[in-house]
Amino acid sequence: MIYVNVAWSIVDICVYMTNNELEIYIHIPFCIRKCNYCDFLSFSCDDEGIDKYVSTLVEEIRCRAVDYKDDMITSVFIGGGTPSILSAKQIESIMNALKNNYTFSDDCEITIESNPGTLTEEKLLAYKNSGISRLSIGLQSANDDELKLLGRIHDYQTFADNYNLARKLGFDNINVDLISAIPGGSIEKFKESLLKVVELNPEHISVYSLIIEEGTPFYINYGEGGPLEDTLISEDDDREIYHLTKTLLAEAGYNQYEISNYSKIGKECQHNIGYWIRKNYIGFGLGASSLYDNLRYKNTSDMNEYLISKTEKVSCGYMIRKEVENLIDNEIISEYLYLGLRMNKGVNLKEVSKCVGQDVYVIFKTWIEMCVQDGLLINNDNIIRLTNKGQDLANYVMAGFV
Ligand code: SF4
Repeated sequence: MIYVNVAWSIVDICVYMTNNELEIYIHIPFCIRKCNYCDFLSFSCDDEGIDKYVSTLVEEIRCRAVDYKDDMITSVFIGGGTPSILSAKQIESIMNALKNNYTFSDDCEITIESNPGTLTEEKLLAYKNSGISRLSIGLQSANDDELKLLGRIHDYQTFADNYNLARKLGFDNINVDLISAIPGGSIEKFKESLLKVVELNPEHISVYSLIIEEGTPFYINYGEGGPLEDTLISEDDDREIYHLTKTLLAEAGYNQYEISNYSKIGKECQHNIGYWIRKNYIGFGLGASSLYDNLRYKNTSDMNEYLISKTEKVSCGYMIRKEVENLIDNEIISEYLYLGLRMNKGVNLKEVSKCVGQDVYVIFKTWIEMCVQDGLLINNDNIIRLTNKGQDLANYVMAGFV
């Protein structure tokens, strides 16, 4: 089963449960330097450290293959961090480890995340030659002052150069990431960034609202009670930006298929759709998460522990697994609903009920009816989806399904 456009059916939720489709996530935790707002598992590292990590990662990929020999890989996502910090040779060795040990579907989507300033012609050619079909570029803003404030290593021109180079080398499936609600920002500034990106005509655009996370440099200034807290944009403006994004991108031919994701038809990110419909996925690398047959777990986030796993020949996964959670029925049902509702197509309650062997509508009848009455959900013959108002209050709606 291959999703070719947004017209896929929620029926697929069950199909994938039985035909061994599997997604792979690979975590590259390195960045040139830490951005001011970032709380991801990422840090800077010298060449020797990166080399050691890649060789451990390759060993983990190779070693764990035995557990997934009957599975068909339908998407790979190399994320981070900044995967494009790796050399062409390192990416090739990861891709070779995958190709030599797993079975791929014919049109498996393979994405690599990148940051402007770390892409070169040599690397882009290596991506292409090793089968990487989708490039995601973290622009975040087209305004150089905002990029400086965020602590990004690049300016807009560097991004544009990298983007144009990728196009010249034949990449025809590019995502550009933007951040809204940057401190000191405005609706107008955001609109300028968005329009500059639209002008480049990428196949996919993601727009996430900045969250000021504890433990980041931003939190000191912009967190609760921080000296610059009042430079944050208001919630009303944040919502206006959200609506403006939907309108402008729709006019430019982008279909919103998820709360924060927009694409040309047929260019939706299959890997992320897999997360939202609870497809099985396995994560390789530091801190990478997996969901396999309703078992959720994470690799260790301790680099020393991760690296030792190679030398002690225990990298087949079990010794580095943390936070192992065997999901029970209620948790599985909740996940189907709050993950599935992120997508504009919504959730087919009959199909989820078939999958889980319980009448999901009966379980959540009161909440669903209340949300429908408040104009947050539409229930169309047991297919529920968020309304525009529901997307604005998505966290509130989802909380009712947990
Ligand atoms: S590039 Fe991304 S992962 Fe790296 S520090 Fe910046 S925000 Fe974090």
